[in-house]
Amino acid sequence: MRTGDVLRWRRRILIGSGCAALAPLRAFGASAARSDRLTGLLAERRTIWLVRGGEETRATYWSAERGYDRDQYLQLCWALRDIQADRVFAMDHRLLDVLAGLQVWLAQGGIKAPLQVHSGYRTRTTNQQLEGAALNSRHLLGQAADITVAGVGNVKLAGMASVLGRGGTGFYPGRNFVHVDTGDERIWISPPKAG
Ligand SMILES: [Zn+2]
Repeated sequence: MRTGDVLRWRRRILIGSGCAALAPLRAFGASAARSDRLTGLLAERRTIWLVRGGEETRATYWSAERGYDRDQYLQLCWALRDIQADRVFAMDHRLLDVLAGLQVWLAQGGIKAPLQVHSGYRTRTTNQQLEGAALNSRHLLGQAADITVAGVGNVKLAGMASVLGRGGTGFYPGRNFVHVDTGDERIWISPPKAG
């Protein structure tokens, strides 16, 4: 995707969503500023509330008073495991930070809902069986998650993730989730094989 396409897509998010929560996109153009925003959202505690199928997990993996909590972190790794292969992986803390920051930001806007996880860590075997998945997907490294949030459009969710992002944000119009990862900073719309 060329830079022009990215800019056009960002503009379309701003125009199409009509969402107040996206207003900071205009103010946070630089990576450093985006990183500062995420740091501010995560200043006191880092909690992720997620659901995946019939499982619900709410874990505070870091707090200003106590620092990192290994047990809580491992609960999140379990929730984001490769279910098909029955394998758990050490998830990238930076990915968890983006997910936690997204939830704080949504809560500030009055949306208190769990992240619906569609995919987290994937073994190479599981990844190869997924139609359209990239061979070198960040899911293989515990650096990506595919998510949705009930009541939040995927365009808005992808826009917010890109503002907080420490990596890539992918949005797939034909598939019902947003891909967030901690790879190179980039944003794309389709193609499916990017996920
Ligand atoms: Zn993905």
